[in-house]
Order: sequence, then C-alpha cells, then structure tokens
Amino acid sequence: MKYIGAHVSTQGGVENAPLNAKALNATAFALFTKNQRQWVAPALKQESIEKFKANCALCGYTPEMILAHDSYLINLGQPDPEKRKQSFNAFVDEMTRCSQLGLDRLNFHPGSHLKLISEDQCISLIAESVRNAIDMVPQVTAVFEITAGQGSNLGYSFDQLALMLERTDRPDSVGVCIDTCHAFAAGYDLSTPESCEKVFEEFERKIGFRYLKGMHLNDAKGTLGSRLDRHHSLGVGNIGWESFKWIMQDERFDKIPLILETIDESLWLDEVQKLHDYAKNA
Ligand SMILES: [Zn+2]
Ligand SMILES: [Zn+2]
Repeated sequence: MKYIGAHVSTQGGVENAPLNAKALNATAFALFTKNQRQWVAPALKQESIEKFKANCALCGYTPEMILAHDSYLINLGQPDPEKRKQSFNAFVDEMTRCSQLGLDRLNFHPGSHLKLISEDQCISLIAESVRNAIDMVPQVTAVFEITAGQGSNLGYSFDQLALMLERTDRPDSVGVCIDTCHAFAAGYDLSTPESCEKVFEEFERKIGFRYLKGMHLNDAKGTLGSRLDRHHSLGVGNIGWESFKWIMQDERFDKIPLILETIDESLWLDEVQKLHDYAKNA
C-alpha cells in the first residue's frame, strides 16, 4: 500500500491540511506546523489541535501517512553556540507541535557548517542537537532529509546520513527522508529503473530501508550531481516518469508518506492520480 500526497497549505490553520490533501485524492500529506520562515510562532490552539485530529480521522489519515516539515531557518549544525541554541529551541518546539498534533515524525534538513568548521565537526554537532531534542520529545522520530549538497549543507550522501544516525545514538527515534531531486542533484542517478535499483541497493547497504520514514517525489531541473536544489514537475525534469513508476511498483516504499513538492500545484491532482495508477498496477 502506497501513501501518496503533497506538501499542502495550512492557510487558516493546521486543521485545513488534511482537507486540502483530501481534495487531491491524496493518501498522504506533508505540512508545516508553523510559519516556516519565522523563528517563533504562537503555540497551537487546543481548538486547532482537536480540529486537526478530527479532520485526519474524517479523511482517513493516520500518523504514518503524514510528514511534518520543520522551518527552513533551523540549523542544528550551526557552529556558533548561541545561534545553535536558537535553532535547537526552535527544533524542540517543532517536535513538541508534532507531538501535540499526534504526529510521529518530523522531517528536517540536517544542517550547514557555513564554512566555519569541518564537515565532520558539523555532523557531530547535528547529531548532538538531534539526540538532545529526542530526549526531550521521545515520541517523535527525527527524520533527516538528504540534501542536494548546495552551499555548505550537509546530508548529501548516504555515508553522511548514516554517520548522523550513528552519532545521534537513538536508533529507534531516527529516520531518513529521500528527496529524489536532492539525491539526483547530489549525484545519485535516479534517471532509469536500472540506476534506481543500484542507488537503493546502496541505500539498503549503508542506511537500511527500516530507517526510510518518508520520500519527497520531485523531478529535477538540474543535472546529475549538479548540487542544484531545483524541483520540477514529475516527468518533465531529468529524472522522468519511468523512475517514479519504478518507485510506485516497489514494495520497499510501502507505508511511508510519499510527498510531492513539485513546482506546479495545479498539476498535483493529476500527478497524485498517475502515481496511484502506477501503484495499483504493481
Ligand atoms: Zn525539505
Ligand atoms: Zn528541495
């Protein structure tokens, strides 16, 4: 069973996210639980929390179908201790909001060294931040997202992600999210079913499918290894429909949120439908 959806709007309140997902015939969705471009947000209102849960129940969404995404401002590997503390507090707040909404996982970009410290030092800072956050909010799994490796962003290889998981040292509370556009831009060739097979064989060997807690399904405007984080609509970028079809027909991607963050929202209904069709014909 594939859970397929998109990163939907929470305009008017988080409680609208499940309704927006249902309108796409989605069986999964992603959301921000606060404004992703601001450090602080008002606490979730009890009324909003209850409506969110009621709407999820009404539309048939359970936690394993929902992937919350944290704010873009957060950098858990921030070299400056004071600024890292700000990021850490914001991250704990995001984890807490997930837990209040009954969600079991939070997807985040690992962090950046800002060219001030080594990659290895930054990976250790990220792991330490995540471990401390998990210890404060243990009911929410911290889901490291692969990055395109743009700028000084870490998490652009399976080796780096594996190291982050290992150093976090909380194996039951961590996971990863593979964004197909990011992985492709980072140098993982997802442009044919054969190359996908190889990439995910390496994924299984270095990280393991048991840690795969979500996927972002995006085609890529950039070329293989370009390190460009530029999403495209499915089938019109450098990855192509055959690879998304391959993912839909492989049961290792069952029962995790598979989320579109493609650039043209007017196509989401069609993209979701096409993915459903491929999954059904598996
Ligand atoms: Zn992301
Ligand atoms: Zn991206």
